[in-house]
Amino acid sequence: MYEDIKQQVLDAILEAQKIGLIHGTSGNVSVRGEDDNIIAITPSCVPYETMKVEDIAIVNLDGEWIEGPHKPSSETPMHTAVMRARSDVRANVHTHGKFATIMAMSGEDLLPSSPPEAEFTPIKVVPFTMPGSDNLAKNVVSTLADKRVVLLKNHGMFCTGADIGNAMAAAIYTEEMAEICMFSKLLGTFDALPEDVVANIQAMIAADKAV
Ligand SMILES: [Zn+2]
Repeated sequence: MYEDIKQQVLDAILEAQKIGLIHGTSGNVSVRGEDDNIIAITPSCVPYETMKVEDIAIVNLDGEWIEGPHKPSSETPMHTAVMRARSDVRANVHTHGKFATIMAMSGEDLLPSSPPEAEFTPIKVVPFTMPGSDNLAKNVVSTLADKRVVLLKNHGMFCTGADIGNAMAAAIYTEEMAEICMFSKLLGTFDALPEDVVANIQAMIAADKAV
């Protein structure tokens, strides 16, 4: 059952691996089903290279394992807590991206350097909390508030979206933003987009005008 959302999870995790957003079995992806209470999520400890649609786990909104041969991701609490808190969120991507992890160490908000990045900013940092814990899930929900992305200190990033394409785009732009930010700070030239420009861009995106 739930082939469609399982396939979306598998396609996304393979794509994330192909473009270097995740390595090994790190990172995880979830997609909410038509039934709001059903979520497809990557299983724990299955190598992505050999993963098949039937390996993807199904959990309910409380994180209880409903279907699939392997245990759902150890980060399931984070994925389900965000979906419980935000009915607009239908997909999540969590990565241990190198540049996101570097920038999360500063504890400072990540700011945009180009227009497409402005959609997700400011990106706040969740203080270090044990991976897989309910506390981490709680901290992600409160730091995320009504935004789409948070950085996780000494861990990586957590991105949300109205669909899986949306959540993947947030992950790609966040990693890019973190890389640009790190190199420009090293050069001493970092200069974020001005706040009024960011507000204008966000208003355009809200009105469905492309940036
Ligand atoms: Zn993780």
